[in-house]
Amino acid sequence: MIKVAKFGGSSLANAEQFTKVKNIITSDEARRYVVPSAPGKRFGKDTKVTDMLYACYAKAEADEDFSADLAAIRERYEEINNGLNIGFDLNPDFELIEKNFKEKAGSDYAASRGEYLNGKLLSAYLGFEFVDSAEIIFFKKDGTLDFEKTQKVMHDRLKKMPNAVIPGFYGCGYDGKVKTFSRGGSDITGSLVAVAIHADLYENWTDVSGFLITDPRIVHNPPTISTITYREMRELSYMGATVLHEDAVFPLRKEGIPVNVKNTNKPEDPGTMIVESTCNKPKYTITGIGGKKGFASITIDKAMMNSEIGFGRKVLEVFEKNGLSFEHTPSGIDTFTVYCSQKEFMEKEQQVIAGLHRAVQPDHIELESDLALIAVVGRGMKRTRGTAGRIFSALAHAHVNVKMIDQGSSELNIIIGVENRDFETAIRAIYSIFVEARI
Ligand code: ASP
Repeated sequence: MIKVAKFGGSSLANAEQFTKVKNIITSDEARRYVVPSAPGKRFGKDTKVTDMLYACYAKAEADEDFSADLAAIRERYEEINNGLNIGFDLNPDFELIEKNFKEKAGSDYAASRGEYLNGKLLSAYLGFEFVDSAEIIFFKKDGTLDFEKTQKVMHDRLKKMPNAVIPGFYGCGYDGKVKTFSRGGSDITGSLVAVAIHADLYENWTDVSGFLITDPRIVHNPPTISTITYREMRELSYMGATVLHEDAVFPLRKEGIPVNVKNTNKPEDPGTMIVESTCNKPKYTITGIGGKKGFASITIDKAMMNSEIGFGRKVLEVFEKNGLSFEHTPSGIDTFTVYCSQKEFMEKEQQVIAGLHRAVQPDHIELESDLALIAVVGRGMKRTRGTAGRIFSALAHAHVNVKMIDQGSSELNIIIGVENRDFETAIRAIYSIFVEARI
């Protein structure tokens, strides 16, 4: 059994967190490959080391004095080094970083030092080998990941090692310089390592015990989702909360490697398992409820529209030409509605309306704003009678007016449009009927 354990920034923010990580690693010898993030926030108003590095490098690039900023970053690592008595000599690394900053090595290089240094400290503390990710992760000329080369080099290098610490977030660009993934990209490193060494499990350690059924700011103490499929996670994540970087998902799914989201501060909690498919029946009919406020709807009315071939395409083309993506397009016999982000739409409002008039000569265009979309997601809804009925009777009892309904034919989700002001009430009502009443 081989496990890859990726630890997020809050799991490695200080010496105390490092101790927890060591306990977790040593309690299971299958945890042979460890992928750390840079030190994150120690408390609410703290700054992540990655952000400190970006800010420090911005000064270096502007030829400003960055010594105090670099000293503050060093302080974060000294705190860990001294707190744990690792006895790691940070001097050579910081001298090199200072020199490279002065020579303008680039902001990707700068940001990557957060995980690089954390990886070095962690490897010294655990007694695991350190493997610089710039030697095993490669990007192509167009800036995208060179998956094949990365997998081959990673596999050959790591497979032989009994254990290793591989810093997250960066690799080697086509030009030989350090290049980072997008923010939160340590998850991608972890997923690449898991695939390369054919891990049985990829653990994503963070500061929550997995995914919650719904937003705890709306519902008091919602339970954790014990198992979720990748598809369910997609349906919920596009509505907000993401725990795993989107680009980390693809390689794992392809190889069928399950992910366990775990809490470094409560390692005994089982967390959430993310899997490709499962016979494991969800505890409730629904797996989760997600949602987002701030949508606008544009309804186009035109008599006999349904016989006009190409109508939908022409409408959507107007949105495309204005660089707007749409969320949903519910339609009636003579109406076609487009839901999109209100903020984005407002910037282009008049161009879109003019464009629609030109493209499809509508009888009438109606705009509505301050709308929210709620996704009720669950593999348990498939072939279960009455799910939609229960949702709508719960909403009616809560006096919520439903503006739009969209059920995908996969029967994995039901999307409901309500007014922004009804958003929380609607989520509470749906939660209550499925989770509290458990029907
Ligand atoms: N440290 C990087 C960030 O803050 C990458 C990561 O934590 O995954 O985005």
